[in-house]
Amino acid sequence: MTVDITPLLRGEVSVITVDCGFVPDRAPEGVRLLPGARISGRISDSGGYIRLTSEVTVPYAGSCARCLDRVEGTLGFRFDRTLAPENTVTAELLEEEADEYLPLKDGFLDPDAALGESVFLEFPMVLLCSPDCRGLCPRCGKKLPSEGGCGCSPREIDPRMEKLKELFPD
Ligand SMILES: [Zn+2]
Ligand SMILES: [Zn+2]
Repeated sequence: MTVDITPLLRGEVSVITVDCGFVPDRAPEGVRLLPGARISGRISDSGGYIRLTSEVTVPYAGSCARCLDRVEGTLGFRFDRTLAPENTVTAELLEEEADEYLPLKDGFLDPDAALGESVFLEFPMVLLCSPDCRGLCPRCGKKLPSEGGCGCSPREIDPRMEKLKELFPD
């Protein structure tokens, strides 16, 4: 995706609207990115700085880290950056302040790499079907309800586990 910023740089317009789909290039392990990732926002002159203010949405699917249930959702986060024409900031600064600056090249913005990186960083470390998911019962393997037990008493052992116990007495 490239966005032509030259009309804004020349002062011909005061706002450029951004509303495009993009394809993130990396996802955290265990996360499948679904089609439909989007960035929508605006680019405008803010006190001498060219600012991109936008909202990014990324549909995804994955599995709950505790119960392995399918988890589907849309990751959403703000993506605000100052656009820096070449020669106004050093390469070191761009690298150090990657969450603040985006480089402009010949008046064009190509945010895909920075967007991909942000998508990767914004995902939660572990996906859960719900924040209080209790995972699976270690005895019967059933998903534990949010309250109470799965039905096994602490001493009761699943017949399949009993069979395993015969095979592996220890
Ligand atoms: Zn879960
Ligand atoms: Zn159980």
